[in-house]
Amino acid sequence: MNIHEFQAKELIRQYQVATPDGRVATDAEDARQITKAYGGQSVVKAQIHAGGRGKGGGVKFATDPDKAAELFKQLLGMNLVTKQTGPEGRRVFTVFISNPVDIERELYLALLVDRATSRITIMASTEGGVDIEEVAEKTPEKITRVAIDPAVGMTAFQAREVAFALGLEGDAFKKSVVFLQNLYRLFVEKDCSMVEVNPLVITKTGDVTALDAKMGFDDNALFRHPDILAFRDLNEEAPEEIEASKFNLNFIKLDGTIGCMVNGAGLAMGTMDIIKYHGGSPANFLDVGGSATEDAVKNAFRIILQDKAVKGVMVNIFGGIMRCDIVAGGIVKAAKEIGITVPVVVRLEGTNVEEGKRILAESGLNLIVADGINDAAEKIVAATK
Ligand code: ADP
Ligand code: MG
Repeated sequence: MNIHEFQAKELIRQYQVATPDGRVATDAEDARQITKAYGGQSVVKAQIHAGGRGKGGGVKFATDPDKAAELFKQLLGMNLVTKQTGPEGRRVFTVFISNPVDIERELYLALLVDRATSRITIMASTEGGVDIEEVAEKTPEKITRVAIDPAVGMTAFQAREVAFALGLEGDAFKKSVVFLQNLYRLFVEKDCSMVEVNPLVITKTGDVTALDAKMGFDDNALFRHPDILAFRDLNEEAPEEIEASKFNLNFIKLDGTIGCMVNGAGLAMGTMDIIKYHGGSPANFLDVGGSATEDAVKNAFRIILQDKAVKGVMVNIFGGIMRCDIVAGGIVKAAKEIGITVPVVVRLEGTNVEEGKRILAESGLNLIVADGINDAAEKIVAATK
């Protein structure tokens, strides 16, 4: 799960990590008052779960309180397109007013889980404020990586190594070490998957402060962080994914045309691979898991069919704990309730497969039955071409 900049800043403040003052404005008048309180100037920032807002026109400087009110009105409700949102953009529901900072230097700092080393890793660069992907591609030597031993935690010398790499001295050096140690503590205690501070700013007065903050959390750990879960913003999630999560189903939206209903993430990967192998492309996959009821399967099928991009559905179930007759029952229920307007290929195998096939055959539905995963993929690709 990802959260907004203003929420991330709330959190890092709790961990004594420095960040400029800022508040969410409730309306244009509020934006004016906040700006007045900051001495008459502010930075007006659109809140969406994507970066690149600056270049995309979502971060604006207000030179006086009236201008802040005007910028608030301009940003609220706008469809913000940035490098990270894709061409469809994201609607802005929240506008954050930040105290402006006199920037001396913009640096890059991130903590993330590096899968290659299986360790939380610090990434730092003197090239802040810009696209880190571009730095990684063109001048990878400008990025310093420090992997942290989970048994030891972040040591002071590792924090100093990063501060040296960022070219810091004196007061800013000391402050950045404390900054990093507090950020690491937050990362571990809150089960983050990623914290990115871009830019990390050295101010004209030598302070070290997080001008921007992006945070992602491990979904599997959210149950023990109700404070983080409260930050969830449904506006930022695909409607189908929200709908699926209500039934404990895992739905992932992709950009192809074939809907996939499977049980288990491994089978989902295999199904998508073989669809691609035969020249098709998955529109989504919905994992019904190992213990779905007939009703959950019905909802799963309904959610897949509601996806406008879906030109056909491949059902690929290997019945273990999940029984084929329950899957078949769910499909039939969904089909009777909402009707099937696209080709559906069904491959069932495993527990109660005969009963499942009987239910499908007797339903009178126009389904394409497949023998095995390869046959199923071939048939759905052919049917949607
Ligand atoms: P994004 O990464 O989505 O583009 P940022 O929050 O990093 O958004 O803002 C983009 C740029 O705007 C920053 O690199 C910085 O130059 C400027 N900026 C943002 N907040 C402030 C602030 N409080 N004071 C001064 N400049 C700011
Ligand atoms: Mg940024």
